[in-house]
Amino acid sequence: MPERTPILAANWKMNKTIEETERFLADFLPKVPESGPEVVICPPFLSLKTAVEHSAQSRARVAAQNMHEEAEGAFTGEVSAPMLLEVGVDGVILGHSERRQYFGESDEALARKVPAALRAGLEPILCVGENESQRDSDETEGVLTRQIEADLSEVPDDRLGEVVIAYEPIWAIGTGRVATPDQAQEAIAFVRALVADRDREQAERARILYGGSVKPDNAAELLALPDVDGALVGGASLEVDDFVAIVEAARP
Ligand code: PEP
Repeated sequence: MPERTPILAANWKMNKTIEETERFLADFLPKVPESGPEVVICPPFLSLKTAVEHSAQSRARVAAQNMHEEAEGAFTGEVSAPMLLEVGVDGVILGHSERRQYFGESDEALARKVPAALRAGLEPILCVGENESQRDSDETEGVLTRQIEADLSEVPDDRLGEVVIAYEPIWAIGTGRVATPDQAQEAIAFVRALVADRDREQAERARILYGGSVKPDNAAELLALPDVDGALVGGASLEVDDFVAIVEAARP
């Protein structure tokens, strides 16, 4: 079975100016362990270049929070893969529930964006997950099946393992209500099985993260789960000490 290096990704959402990004990284980067999990900082677009420059001598990598699937064109307000690559970004979050909920991000668009990111050489971090009423009515597996089948439909089987997937139950995002270890393990094992339906070997390679109110005091338990290969962290990634503690919790 392939070793899967855990990923701790910081989703800053619409937080931190360029100056605040510089201040955070000046404090945070010296505290990143020299070995162990991969660390990915996902700041707003305007801070990407600064984040890349500051983390160049460190183990931290930088990813964007969204991307358009076309390389260029009449798409006002959008940013493309070549633009991200030019500033040294090497990954991109796609399909975050806030983009699905507030900006109409659809599975049809994600079916184009995920392979476009891969073709461009960006590591996609694809977010999937159910809302509270879907969980309450036992629809979690149906929602995950629909999202994974649609969003990965145009990814060739032999590249499925390059897509990082973040299972993020919407009811746990920014709410302080974290999934129980059983809920996280069960959903993530289910996502892995969906990928295995396409290609078993690629499913063993794929890193699948948990996201939703990960904090220093619950990280170790979640990160120790057999199918959990790291975390996508929102609120707690905005504070240096909290994010360092979460990164430390992922070390073997
Ligand atoms: C997120 O934004 O992806 C997230 C998981 O946020 P939080 O950790 O704040 O719940």
